Amino acid sequence: MEDCIFCKIANGEIGSLIYENDFVAAFDDLNPQAPVHTLIVPKRHIQNIEDLNFEHPEGSCHPGEDAKPEDYCDGKYLKEIFKAIKEVAKIKGVSESGYRIISNCGKDAGQTVMHLHFHLIAGKPLGDKIV
Ligand code: 5GP
Ligand code: ZN
Repeated sequence: MEDCIFCKIANGEIGSLIYENDFVAAFDDLNPQAPVHTLIVPKRHIQNIEDLNFEHPEGSCHPGEDAKPEDYCDGKYLKEIFKAIKEVAKIKGVSESGYRIISNCGKDAGQTVMHLHFHLIAGKPLGDKIV
């Protein structure tokens, strides 16, 4: 999507990625809140969890071998996000020590960038938990 900073980063137009595949990208947060603070995003412009569409066309979960990323449903992107989270944890060396995943959705959660993203925060004991 034009004018979306995370679309531009995910597409490689600006910044640098620490992990990517056809569906997702990961890059370090501009304003890190811990020694490891990486954002994992879909390459499709989805605003947040509320914007995820699970009423996808028949067959778009498994559209076939020659399918392009845009042929897949949002569920495929979510699956790739969670696979990428595990990859990023491995790359950052925090798979064993642990990490916290946060996705702010909407106004009351304080979402500031309207492109779905998952914060992976790690690298030290993370202190008080909200939940
Ligand atoms: P939110 O508040 O929407 O959950 O999180 C947005 C996050 O994106 C913030 O942690 C902020 O520091 C980060 N951020 C905003 N703009 C940029 C940018 O241009 N590059 C990177 N790498 N991170 C950004
Ligand atoms: Zn976007």
